Amino acid sequence: MRYEKALEILKYLKDRENLKIYDSHVHPFDVIGVVRPEINNKDNNFGLKSSLIDKLKFNKTANILMRSASIVAPKFIENSVKEIYQKCSPGTLLNEMDHSCIDISTLVPVCPWVTIDEIYKYYRDEKRFIYLGSIDIQAIDINEIEPEIERQITLFNIKGLKLHPNLQGFYPQPSYNNEIIERKVKKIYDVVSNKKLYILFHAGYTNLFSKNKSYRRKDYALLKNFINNKGQSEIFKNYNFPSVLAHLGNYAKIFKDRKIIKLIMRKYSNIMFDTSGTDAATLRWFLENFGSKRLIFGSDAYYHSMKSASGLCLECITRTVSKEKIEESISNIFCRNFELLLHNYK
Ligand SMILES: [Zn+2]
Repeated sequence: MRYEKALEILKYLKDRENLKIYDSHVHPFDVIGVVRPEINNKDNNFGLKSSLIDKLKFNKTANILMRSASIVAPKFIENSVKEIYQKCSPGTLLNEMDHSCIDISTLVPVCPWVTIDEIYKYYRDEKRFIYLGSIDIQAIDINEIEPEIERQITLFNIKGLKLHPNLQGFYPQPSYNNEIIERKVKKIYDVVSNKKLYILFHAGYTNLFSKNKSYRRKDYALLKNFINNKGQSEIFKNYNFPSVLAHLGNYAKIFKDRKIIKLIMRKYSNIMFDTSGTDAATLRWFLENFGSKRLIFGSDAYYHSMKSASGLCLECITRTVSKEKIEESISNIFCRNFELLLHNYK
């Protein structure tokens, strides 16, 4: 079955079965720190194009290119990010959503570069947007963590937090950190559990370049820092909040770590993965081995176009050999799994 057929099924589920189609992972502002989170552009017609990485579908070559560019041509990356984000506006996102059949996008900050307050200032549309919060783990005082999360719930109705271990400078396993960060990480996990939120974790590498803060590191978010090779995990064992590991846990990794994905799938039931920035081979391998029950669609930053991201995902679904019906995979990945995450735990 071809991609067009899958798109037809998606449209059918949306129009006839009244399924809401979600993108669970959208960054309306640059989170690396290259462009300030402001909208200067009044032209709502700027459309996103597929980047080279999108065209290469996040394959090995794409990952090697990204890594090399971050080392030898950081200015080039900076300028590409700038060029896209300076032209984008809420209109750009809404157009992109309409072209990709997405009803609702989850807007994702990463503190301190982008706060949920800044996102909400420009992207205020409760019908088409859902909001996640974020905490500046380095700067915040431990006693401020709970009131700050409560504030974000009250003002923005956040459904979860986005944490980016590589950019924010911490290990997801609390005890791997120094004592101060360990206490803060535990506090965040406690509050998230009590408030029935979920956490969207960046998982995998991050290619860092010139604008780096000293505490950033490319590898805090590797899967081995969530769970050890015996399958033990402080987070997943001691806390009951659901997690989404973005990028199938392997962002920018040239060799994907499938062994740990298997371990997570076997041992912990409240972990999902998102599809953003994932190559076709890994996505298909996942679908063939585990089906679609724990996968949600996400497109990530504006330099990865939403349309290419959903296209890649639909294409993988149609090419996967599995017992599942295509309708079932599409409705799970684009709707039901995310709704479970939003409603089941509230
Ligand atoms: Zn992200």
